[in-house]
Amino acid sequence: MAAAKLIDGKTIAAALRKRVGKGVAELVAARHVKPGLATVLVGDDPASEVYVRSKGRVAVELGMASFDHRLPASTTEADLLQLIARLNGDPAVHGILVQLPLPRHIDTPHVLLAVDPDKDVDGFHPMNVGRLGSIAAGAPLDFPVPCTPLGCSMLLADALGSLRGKDAVIVGRSTLVGRPVAQLLLRSDCTVTIAHSRTRDLPALCRTADILVVAIGKAEFVRGDWIKPGAAVIDVGINRLPAPGGKTKLVGDVAFDEAREIAGHLTPVPGGVGPMTVACLMYNTLQEARRRAGLPFAAI
Ligand code: NDP
Repeated sequence: MAAAKLIDGKTIAAALRKRVGKGVAELVAARHVKPGLATVLVGDDPASEVYVRSKGRVAVELGMASFDHRLPASTTEADLLQLIARLNGDPAVHGILVQLPLPRHIDTPHVLLAVDPDKDVDGFHPMNVGRLGSIAAGAPLDFPVPCTPLGCSMLLADALGSLRGKDAVIVGRSTLVGRPVAQLLLRSDCTVTIAHSRTRDLPALCRTADILVVAIGKAEFVRGDWIKPGAAVIDVGINRLPAPGGKTKLVGDVAFDEAREIAGHLTPVPGGVGPMTVACLMYNTLQEARRRAGLPFAAI
């Protein structure tokens, strides 16, 4: 079997960012509305700091306003809710991103519930979760959809075109990744199975999949012989393994070298799903700014 075609998330994300940048310029020109993204980081987790910084930088690159809120780890839930209420009422802010995880003394669902659903560019508010959970096949995604799952579905559409009738197996049932991916693939007329840590004979189930999406957070867990020849494999996992010289290297949840021999399409890690996440955040922010300006959802 020929080696799998790599799904080049970097290039696809760059093209999406470019389209979003064009959409921002058009919105500014037509309505004098500059999309604004507010990021909220509580505490000093180094990985979260890197993510938040890159989100703010990309927003500015695309012509948006970026409002960066850094709060100490000791911030009370009441203070955080007060900030969110202020951002909800600020007309210059079209998207609010609360970087997760939050410190343990803060009730995360409570905070996500406080974000205005029309500014919830992460798609984590229960109203947006419900909208995605009840969407009809083929209906427009005219509300905020979680960014990583949206990125996965865009990569699949780019690689395969129509997904109609395909058997999809999603490994991982988290509310942030696995479940929303499953909803998006159902909307695209796939026949979807969601697997998790209690699934019996996971390798055999994976071998039935035309589309295999893996989001479990376990380095190189899915082996090459779990993959149906020619399948499209989306590896969401980000895991750090020790590398020579005291360094670390990033690997996914799928054993890349093995999968490459058997899959039809495959995302690399890094450079697959990761770059799509930030691009989709910008996409959601533009869509919400358009909504505020009275413009319809645009398939950009
Ligand atoms: P969670 O830890 O929230 O969920 C993991 C899921 O994997 C759970 O449903 C769990 O099952 C399942 N699982 C764990 N072990 C196994 C196993 N041995 N067999 C089958 N299923 C298993 O993780 P997330 O969904 O938040 O993230 C998953 C991965 O994706 C992580 O590596 C994360 O870093 C990465 N990620 C990447 C992003 C990107 O931008 N590329 C963005 C978000 C996440 P159960 O429910 O039974 O416990």
